[in-house]
Amino acid sequence: MEKGLLLVVSGPSGAGKGTICKRLLSENKNIKLSISATTRSPRAGEVDGVNYFFLDKKDFEEKIKKNEFLEYAEVYGNYYGTPKQYVLEQLNSGKDVLLEIDIQGALNIKEIYPDGVFVFILPPSMEELKSRIVKRGTETKESLTRRFESAYEEIKFAFKYDYAVVNDEVDLAVNKIQSIISAEKYRVHRQ
Ligand code: 5GP
Repeated sequence: MEKGLLLVVSGPSGAGKGTICKRLLSENKNIKLSISATTRSPRAGEVDGVNYFFLDKKDFEEKIKKNEFLEYAEVYGNYYGTPKQYVLEQLNSGKDVLLEIDIQGALNIKEIYPDGVFVFILPPSMEELKSRIVKRGTETKESLTRRFESAYEEIKFAFKYDYAVVNDEVDLAVNKIQSIISAEKYRVHRQ
């Protein structure tokens, strides 16, 4: 059986990757979301095992020791990690897997799994990015500033990805990524 495609999506906070990923998942039944583990606290409405596996630091570090993560990184002061077993099982059974992870994690995955398809989501402008994070209303003032400042640094890494997609309009951005997925399925040579 042909292996599934590993699709890795990153982008700064507020670029709209969450919305885009939700749409990709609802429109492609063959794509499975990898649910990450994190030590950050759940936001209002977030459910354990759906949005993330919420762990305390001790449990997370135990899993690092047991080599249970494909990659993990510290982002905004918390650990985030991709559970290894689930991802490999899905890929081996021919399912595509979507990872919505930060740049450090994506670049680590690129080292160990160069066959992945790496997509960076860009906001149409920095003003728009800021207004999206503010509107979302989930961050404290301090966290908002940190996320916004990080965005400037993060955007420089877009050139390390295979594709950069500007999210000016969600429908368009989703279509662009659908085209990327289709093209990648017909690729003869991988790296
Ligand atoms: P948030 O706290 O907004 O849910 O996520 C913060 C950042 O962590 C986002 O850039 C998100 O993509 C990233 N992230 C989520 N899960 C993982 C993961 O498993 N590994 C890594 N490296 N980053 C992750």
